[in-house]
Amino acid sequence: MLLLYAYSVGTISSRKIERACYEDLADVVNRYRSELVRTHGHELLPSHHHALNCIRRCRNQHSSVMLLECGDYHHTVTLPDSCGHRSCHYCQHHESEQRLQRQRAKLLPVQYYPITFTVPSELRHLFGRHQPMAYDLLLNIAWQTIASFAGRDPRLNG
Ligand SMILES: [Zn+2]
Repeated sequence: MLLLYAYSVGTISSRKIERACYEDLADVVNRYRSELVRTHGHELLPSHHHALNCIRRCRNQHSSVMLLECGDYHHTVTLPDSCGHRSCHYCQHHESEQRLQRQRAKLLPVQYYPITFTVPSELRHLFGRHQPMAYDLLLNIAWQTIASFAGRDPRLNG
């Protein structure tokens, strides 16, 4: 998708592509937010509004700035602040990489298998409205299911 975007705007620098995509996301939020609120406002949680506000103000003319000075104070640079929100793709690339490295360091030297639990579409609205309780229940039930299966498999020694 980034390459498609780069070709469409004629940008070949990855930094410029990143910057252009970031600016476009803030522009998209600015351009379509009122329409989103008008058509889906009843479904948006306060956390969604907060994420949109953060993305809109991240590292651009709407954000606060930080002043960087070198040790001898002869050179200063101002940079727009990052929002640091977990939904902001611009901020979270570095955070995601660090989190992945921390998780990789915890891996045991064994074979891992992904197990997926899904929620029926009929329950998605309920999950959206009651996220902490719903995800807590889902994880508890998922763990009970795994423990039950493992308990019945003699190769896993109960
Ligand atoms: Zn951000």
